[in-house]
Amino acid sequence: MNAIHEVWIWAEQRDGRLMDVSLEILGKASELAEEIGGGTAAILIGDELSPLARELIAYGADKVYLFSDPRLTYYQSDAYTRLISDLLEKQQPEILLLGGTTIGMDLAPSVAARIKTGLTAHSCKLEIDKSGDKPLLMAAVPGWGGGMIVNIACPEHRPQMVTVQQGVMEKPPRDDHHSGELIPMEVKLNERDFRVKCIEMVETIPEGPQIDTSDVVVVGGYGMKCQGSLLPLEELTDLLHGALGGTRPALDEGWIPECSMIGVNGKAIGPKLLITIGTSGANHYTAGFVKAGTVMAINSDPDAPIFDVCDIGIVGDALEVVPAMVKALKAL
Ligand SMILES: Cc1cc2nc3c(=O)[nH]c(=O)nc-3n(C[C@H](O)[C@H](O)[C@H](O)COP(=O)(O)OP(=O)(O)OC[C@H]3O[C@@H](n4cnc5c(N)ncnc54)[C@H](O)[C@@H]3O)c2cc1C
Repeated sequence: MNAIHEVWIWAEQRDGRLMDVSLEILGKASELAEEIGGGTAAILIGDELSPLARELIAYGADKVYLFSDPRLTYYQSDAYTRLISDLLEKQQPEILLLGGTTIGMDLAPSVAARIKTGLTAHSCKLEIDKSGDKPLLMAAVPGWGGGMIVNIACPEHRPQMVTVQQGVMEKPPRDDHHSGELIPMEVKLNERDFRVKCIEMVETIPEGPQIDTSDVVVVGGYGMKCQGSLLPLEELTDLLHGALGGTRPALDEGWIPECSMIGVNGKAIGPKLLITIGTSGANHYTAGFVKAGTVMAINSDPDAPIFDVCDIGIVGDALEVVPAMVKALKAL
């Protein structure tokens, strides 16, 4: 293992636009690189993306490896895996960060398996541990049923690979004076690299207020099971001009669409007010609202862990508390 002291990211683009999470991880990559005394690099794949490469440099990339080919306009699982794996094997950076998007979650394990390194998924915090002979990346993830946060390290293999939850890290400021090197890469691919082809991407535009842009978010959890839906929470949400979100079980039950799930596998949100109802408070879920302003929790179990992370806690049956809140709001 003879890795170069560089922290890399895979910069995800869709339709010629960088995903926010790519800039968030680039900001974190710059911090980590400073700690290990190295630089940053971004891998960018698509077609005719030079403007995006310059954008990455302005956001802190010291180098951008650019693979440009019309066949790579859309994400292609095998081809992207091949290009990234070959480059990593040749250059051997210390760390590679990827956004925990649907595509990132497909690409990261494929690359990690190909180059035989470890991968930590859905990290919400990254730190360098300098206590050993060489710096080690500690990636924090909610673990063991979401009841605790665990630090995962990959001491033996390089790069240390991590997918990072969207929205939990800060996007760095843009600096158009920051200089960096754009490195055009040769695209060497064959038919076998396109066994599965993505031929089109169709964006679904969700209707109504969204949990990531609303000041008020009401969240329903599995505690609403006896009602069989989140309908009892809709009136409260409407009265507060908010958006309705849910936990993983709420999604699995079909009560909310995928875009409304909060947590490590869902969205990270930061509304001014979050009212979380019938949710136990697993870390997998609470990691998705660390940036929220005031958090109010309603749960019938006084020992539910959600009460450890809220500002206002109401112990009671949601089916009694919520109608009472609706009545009081209407009276106002
Ligand atoms: C790798 C991994 C990733 C995960 N990612 C996510 C994620 O992104 N998002 C996510 O949400 N989960 C995620 N999970 C699942 C997570 O660990 C929890 O299982 C889940 O968040 C629990 O959802 P819940 O709080 O709605 O349900 P429960 O844990 O079942 O809690 C229901 C709560 O409702 C209360 N209750 C019951 N009846 C009432 C009532 N009438 N009134 C008031 N309160 C009531 C109960 O006391 C209980 O506390 C993940 C799990 C794993 C392993």
